[in-house]
Amino acid sequence: MKEVILLKNGEIALKGLNRRTFEDQLIKNLRRRLSPFGTWQITAAQSTVTAIPAEDGTDMDAAADACARVFGFVGYSKALMVDKDMDVIRSVTGDYLAAELAGARTFKVCAKRADKKFPFTSPEICMEMGGVLLSRFPHLTVDVHNPDLTVNIEVRDKAAFIHGNQQKGAGGLPSGSAGKAAVLISGGIDSPVAAWMMAKRGLQLEAVHFASPPYTSERAEKKVHDLLSKVARYSGRIRLHVVPFTDLQEAIRDNCPEELFTILMRRYMMRIAERIAGENDCGALITGESVGQVASQTLYALACTDEAVSMPVFRPLIGMDKNEVIEISRRIDTFDLSILPYEDCCTVFTPKHPRTHPKLYYVKQAENLLDSETLCDAALAGTRTLTIRGY
Ligand code: ATP
Ligand code: MG
Repeated sequence: MKEVILLKNGEIALKGLNRRTFEDQLIKNLRRRLSPFGTWQITAAQSTVTAIPAEDGTDMDAAADACARVFGFVGYSKALMVDKDMDVIRSVTGDYLAAELAGARTFKVCAKRADKKFPFTSPEICMEMGGVLLSRFPHLTVDVHNPDLTVNIEVRDKAAFIHGNQQKGAGGLPSGSAGKAAVLISGGIDSPVAAWMMAKRGLQLEAVHFASPPYTSERAEKKVHDLLSKVARYSGRIRLHVVPFTDLQEAIRDNCPEELFTILMRRYMMRIAERIAGENDCGALITGESVGQVASQTLYALACTDEAVSMPVFRPLIGMDKNEVIEISRRIDTFDLSILPYEDCCTVFTPKHPRTHPKLYYVKQAENLLDSETLCDAALAGTRTLTIRGY
């Protein structure tokens, strides 16, 4: 008898021939995630992964909490692994779930019998255990539709598992199963959410941040670092490239029409990010833009921004309202950091009347006033790379 963690696969279950690759990545990620809590034996069968701690005294609550942030699982729970013996199940279930049963008003028993040789059918297990638990916890009533607590009895190949309500998992696909992309990360609310959303789809992240000292402070850079640390709790390790952007911004300010400042700046950001992405095996760029949010995010401005690069640009927030983005940022715990009031390079030299309908012809004409290649090369040469630890 031992406490373990059961995790339910999400979309991977729908994969065809390449399911094994996804599963291997998922288990690798889980193993790494659980490693701070000791040694684990991890096995997968029938869309369920079982993580069994090798040592006694493993902090199971902390380990289960870490599982909530592993992409690829839709649910997880601590469970008691016992012999496949109805007498054992009868005698230990009430003790194991005593606190939950005492705290619930209504409950139901849900039995799954993967091992068809087990002498009790699922309905029989439910009937039997419902009776046992009702007589021990007489304050309970059965509610099969919307119970406070579901007592799960899963009879699998090698053992039976007893657990209470399943917790919600992070969903998505295993980190690293979909390749790599570079996220343009500011200190704002949107880009960390965009990064998290694409990591959820299995992308490994590389991050690019443009800093403009002395207009932006060290604290602003630290904020980006802290934001990525939050995202890395889900995505795993992220490398951050900090690009010095002051010279480029000053060159734009000094040589180009003021109303094109923002769009020009965005195009240079994309170009430089694309170079960094290319050097780091990334197949796409990610930004936190959403249609209409600010002047640089009109359809015209977005088209103009896209034109600067040939790599696909993923904008997972494109159709979302700010409130919806904020909701996610609270959930992933980036919101409070994002609203700290440090300058971002985007707010430096912002024109009073930015063009909402920039014409590519004039934008390119303005770019011809700059020695773009030298400026971009210098920015890349001054780029620093840091590693943000994952789980
Ligand atoms: P965010 O909340 O992500 O800062 P925003 O609504 O403030 O977004 P903009 O400032 O127009 O919008 O930036 C749009 C996108 O450009 C950001 O989501 C981010 O992907 C990228 N970006 C903006 N500033 C920077 C920066 N300093 N470094 C890297 N990328 C940036
Ligand atoms: Mg911003």
